[in-house]
Amino acid sequence: MALTEERRDNQRATSKAARLLEATGAAAAVGTLALGVVGTLPGHPHFEVGRTIFGNIADWLVAVFYVGLAAFLWLTFHLFARRAASWGQGRPDRRTGRRRERVTLLREALSMKTVMRDRRAGLMHSLIYYGFLVLFLGTVTLEIDHLLPASLKFLHGGFYQGYSAVLDAASLAFLAGLALAVVGRYLAPMRRLRSKTRPEDALILGVLAVIGITGLLTEAARIALAGRPDFEVWSFVGHPLSALFEQQSVGGWHRFFWVSHAAAFALFLVALPTTKLRHMVTSPADMFLSPRERARGAMRELPNLMEAEDIETIGASVAADLTWKQIFDADACTVCGRCTSVCPANLTGKPLDPREMVLKTGAAAASAAGVSPPVSSPTTLEGAGSLFEAIGPDEVFACTTCRACDEICPVNIEIVDRILDMRRHLTLMESEFPAELGKAFVAMENQSNPWGLSPQARADWVSEVGFEVPVLGENGKTTAEYLWFVGCAGAYDDRNTAVSVALARLLHEAGVDFAILGTREMCSGDPARRAGAELVFQQLALGNIETFNELGVTKIITQCAHCFNTIGAEYKGFGGDYEVVHHSQLLAELLRQGRLRRPVGADGAPKKITYHDACYLGRHNDVYLAPREVVGASGGRVVEMGRHGTRALCCGAGGGRFWMEEKTGKKVNVERAEEALAVEADEIAVACPFCFVMLDDGVKELGREDTPVRDIAMILADGLDVLDGPPGAG
Ligand code: SF4
Ligand code: SF4
Repeated sequence: MALTEERRDNQRATSKAARLLEATGAAAAVGTLALGVVGTLPGHPHFEVGRTIFGNIADWLVAVFYVGLAAFLWLTFHLFARRAASWGQGRPDRRTGRRRERVTLLREALSMKTVMRDRRAGLMHSLIYYGFLVLFLGTVTLEIDHLLPASLKFLHGGFYQGYSAVLDAASLAFLAGLALAVVGRYLAPMRRLRSKTRPEDALILGVLAVIGITGLLTEAARIALAGRPDFEVWSFVGHPLSALFEQQSVGGWHRFFWVSHAAAFALFLVALPTTKLRHMVTSPADMFLSPRERARGAMRELPNLMEAEDIETIGASVAADLTWKQIFDADACTVCGRCTSVCPANLTGKPLDPREMVLKTGAAAASAAGVSPPVSSPTTLEGAGSLFEAIGPDEVFACTTCRACDEICPVNIEIVDRILDMRRHLTLMESEFPAELGKAFVAMENQSNPWGLSPQARADWVSEVGFEVPVLGENGKTTAEYLWFVGCAGAYDDRNTAVSVALARLLHEAGVDFAILGTREMCSGDPARRAGAELVFQQLALGNIETFNELGVTKIITQCAHCFNTIGAEYKGFGGDYEVVHHSQLLAELLRQGRLRRPVGADGAPKKITYHDACYLGRHNDVYLAPREVVGASGGRVVEMGRHGTRALCCGAGGGRFWMEEKTGKKVNVERAEEALAVEADEIAVACPFCFVMLDDGVKELGREDTPVRDIAMILADGLDVLDGPPGAG
């Protein structure tokens, strides 16, 4: 289906959503008016233990209440419908299917599971959210009881007393949550909140506080008006508060609090679609929409650029180039700044701020659609949705694609995708990219590797192995269980050819049936794709796929986390479907099978080794345990850095950053090396050639050559030397 046709389908779907919201708003308004009329019918007996609904409130005020509520409910849905039209300007993005996963994520959103990753924020959100929910349900219960015929009314006696206690407890929780929010935002703010505090935050907190406080004061005045009957002690907040009022003079106060409570709720209904308060609705919806067909580590698909004819533009330069989901994401953002707080680029002083990326792209979409921006912003965008009006190339190219932002976002917003879409546009459509990248692009195009070294030298490293490394398709080696995709770093970089030698020996020791491609191997294309040069990536990927398929390859080993991700997650889109294993996974499996023997105790006390998680192995592909298993089996005791596993700090090389100069702020690899050295390990282990170079350079820059950095294969091969002697002896 052509893109324009898909886009029309998408617009039809979102305008359907907008129409549905408008219809729901109209139905809610008519329903509210009908409830108001039904409520005027006779049949509201007085109960000894209970309360009179709308007691002390004049009939005309009750009528204004129902008409006003109907109007504001309609307005809320109408304003949401306008936002839905804004989402519709984006490109298509299929988010259907995988229902079970969606329901689980929705449940996690509603139960605050993801927000709870930050305990302080989680507690605050839970108190406000659940407090508000119980109060809202309490009001609905009251209205239901009000409308029921006398014989069916249930809100009296013991039930009424229990109901009163629960609602007072909910009020206290709600107000406590708001107090925590005020402390967290204004009195003892975290940096990530302080920098984004806007007047609308005070407005939202103020409106919610007025709802909570006037609710309790209305209750207290009502109890005072009734002469403080004993059964009302169950209202354990409202009853003591009622002592503040005189029964004779409290009528006016009661009406004042009641009107203030209703007015604050009306303001809440307007703030819900027009301020960031909308995340109460959009964040759970965004969680529900987050599962997608594409593998986590794969970039957004593009058609084969060498064959496609009807492509108008590539990547994203205006809001309409984003997907509808990316525009919706901006409306779901809670502006919490957790993404920014973990971003290695931001932490080291680069101009990139992932939260701003979400908000600026959302502001561009809002300006194009004529709706309010995701949050009130000091900068107003004038252009028709232009993304680069507010976002500079230096921000776009500072990203290491480490995925720390996507991982920590409590509402599963996809930040990296939009940065890479903008990169694609800058590189392919505008030729605007850091000059150093140009050399790497040309080298990949002409020499099939970003170093620009001779393709004929790709297999030179095998001369150091000490036995013949089989090459698929040569010297009678026509089949092998595994093709070992060595990768450019493993083939050309001095530090990493040592990893290739170690891995060759380990595979040989374990009797693995493997072969390499030798000089026919080309770069997997990861650096080209992440830097936006899709055409170069596709040339390399299609070339490799052709070779793999010609040689009947089905299983691939790679020691590079980037090749692992690209070949495993992205080649499928171009007809290359293989089982790809990272060397850490294969080595761990060989150890489990006893095909590599553990050298535990061979050299005395175990070494203290800290392992640095590669982003494309961990966060992009969920491989965390295998490398640690290999380190443990090689006689090492793994000690963790402060940031490890899902929260590990990037080495600074991903997203093609390895090929760009780091001109601003502190170097990311030095920041990570400092963290690794801080645990005072004997050695730093890595499982990716680019992490290897970055960490090794970082350690050397800090003058700490005494702490070696090595790949897990080198560490394991060391141990085997101690146990078994030279290769082949086991
Ligand atoms: S992927 Fe990493 S570097 Fe890029 S914005 Fe997210 S956290 Fe920052
Ligand atoms: S993108 Fe996610 S983590 Fe970042 S500010 Fe928005 S909600 Fe928070």
